[in-house]
Amino acid sequence: MRIPQTFIDELLTRTDIVEIIDKHVPLKKAGKEYMACCPFHNEKTPSFTVSPQKQFYHCFGCGAHGTAIGFLMDYERMEFVEAVEELASMLGLNVPREQGGETQPDRDSPRLLELLEQANHYFQQQLREHPAAQKAVDYLKQRGVSGEIAKRFGLGFAPPGWNNLTQLHPDPETRQRLAAAGLIVARPGNEFYDRFRNRIIFPIRNRRGRVIGFGGRVLDANDNPKYLNSPETPVFHKGRELYGLYEVREQLRHPQRLLVVEGYMDVIALAQFDIPYAVATLGTATSADHLKALFRLVKEVVFCFDGDAAGRRAASKALETALPLIEDGHQVGFLFLPEGQDPDSLVRSEGRQGFEARITQAMPLSEYLLHSHARQIDTHSVDGKARFIATLRPLLKQLRPGIFRELVLRKTAEYLQLPLSALEQGLDKPVTAETPVPARPTSRQPVKKTPVRHAITLLLHHPEFAQKIDDLEALREIDLPGIKLFVELLETLRSNPNLNIGALLERWRDKDNAKHLLTLARQTLPGEKQGLSAEFSDVIKNLMAVKHEQRWQALQQKLSREGLSQAEKLEYQQLLDVMSQQNT
Ligand SMILES: [Zn+2]
Repeated sequence: MRIPQTFIDELLTRTDIVEIIDKHVPLKKAGKEYMACCPFHNEKTPSFTVSPQKQFYHCFGCGAHGTAIGFLMDYERMEFVEAVEELASMLGLNVPREQGGETQPDRDSPRLLELLEQANHYFQQQLREHPAAQKAVDYLKQRGVSGEIAKRFGLGFAPPGWNNLTQLHPDPETRQRLAAAGLIVARPGNEFYDRFRNRIIFPIRNRRGRVIGFGGRVLDANDNPKYLNSPETPVFHKGRELYGLYEVREQLRHPQRLLVVEGYMDVIALAQFDIPYAVATLGTATSADHLKALFRLVKEVVFCFDGDAAGRRAASKALETALPLIEDGHQVGFLFLPEGQDPDSLVRSEGRQGFEARITQAMPLSEYLLHSHARQIDTHSVDGKARFIATLRPLLKQLRPGIFRELVLRKTAEYLQLPLSALEQGLDKPVTAETPVPARPTSRQPVKKTPVRHAITLLLHHPEFAQKIDDLEALREIDLPGIKLFVELLETLRSNPNLNIGALLERWRDKDNAKHLLTLARQTLPGEKQGLSAEFSDVIKNLMAVKHEQRWQALQQKLSREGLSQAEKLEYQQLLDVMSQQNT
């Protein structure tokens, strides 16, 4: 379900970024802009500016920048969709969704969430009141779960019997929805039975705190399976959700790290021992979506695995998922538990200090990468080194260019006792040896000024200049880097003349050149609008001149190769005239 682009445009046109930011960071007016001490780095004199014209913020100190949506994502650590919903609710708007051709229409989701919430209340009430609940209470007590922790995680009890939930909802339509929400199971003859029976219930909440599914643990050792999850439903996607993430955020506004464990009881036991930053995947391997959600909240993620073969397999999957997502500053650790132990049992025997000591000694990803692959290969021989590089190649290729990649390559070279350059040759990637790691561009570094770049910058600051272009098609044919982007921007602005910079940039959020556009947008342009308008016209003229020259050269080549047609000869002459006028 996508949010329509037009809605995001409208949202950013109607939102006032100054008002949004001022709520969190009190702003002072300074000329055309507003200023404050930057909330994203420590400073005593303000270098954080908010521009009401651009609907854009930018810090000259640390380079932080973005739109109202970006601010909520970075400051409030919201997901994109959450930030959109937040802004919409401030304006009293409902976020519309585009039908993505999914089997289940989204308009039913609010009803499903309501039923899930009702079921949640029901399960919690049963834990307190049902005569058979004593077994569940005893189990939790025996595992050392306090009333406070049980409440924080909303633990409940699904009583024995096949029809408890079904009986509460005799209406056939509601029963269909209960089935769609994964609470009851349909069987032939329009009959239903409860999915969760005689189990301790763990509600699974999404990042906004809504219950979207449940996990249930058996109480009777003869029942199977030991853990049962809600199936995938229109509101519950296992590959995206992490058990306990909402609860972490309720406890810690700015957690330092997150620990990824396997089960509900691990999360709860760790919280009980005052390690309130653990989350669990829901019976699936760690996905890229999971990791992105984690990295949005923290820089350090530690995976916790059993020390057995299954744990090692899970670890190498996690490694593969993590490699392409790691950015500079991120830290990923691998913690392997002694055989036969899980976080639940370990934290109960070693306590918080003992367990946290293990976390701090977790194996860094770069080390795990080497060790996991060095296992079967003798890296002392030349042959072994070559084979080792060959196995690592597909993994190392996924690393984003940057300091982290450099570090991993260095460590690998050290490990193999090879010069870095030899390793890089072996990897078939000589790039890093010659080009130094690019420093993070800051606003003070002047951006190289090419005509296309200059045109884009002017356009970003004055979107209305888009209307000045007569011949978009002519621009499109120019062979210069960036021209495609420039034309795309022009097209967008000509069909949406009300977009401000913020709204425009938001449209590019997921595209490759987003960073590039942000860099250009946060420059300050000296001069008045009139002067800039003339400048824009000049740049366009220059671009057209380039176009003429490129065309002329093409004709020139053809002329010497095979000769020109009558029409081409005419064009050739006209171009010569135009170019000689341009040069005078
Ligand atoms: Zn800053």
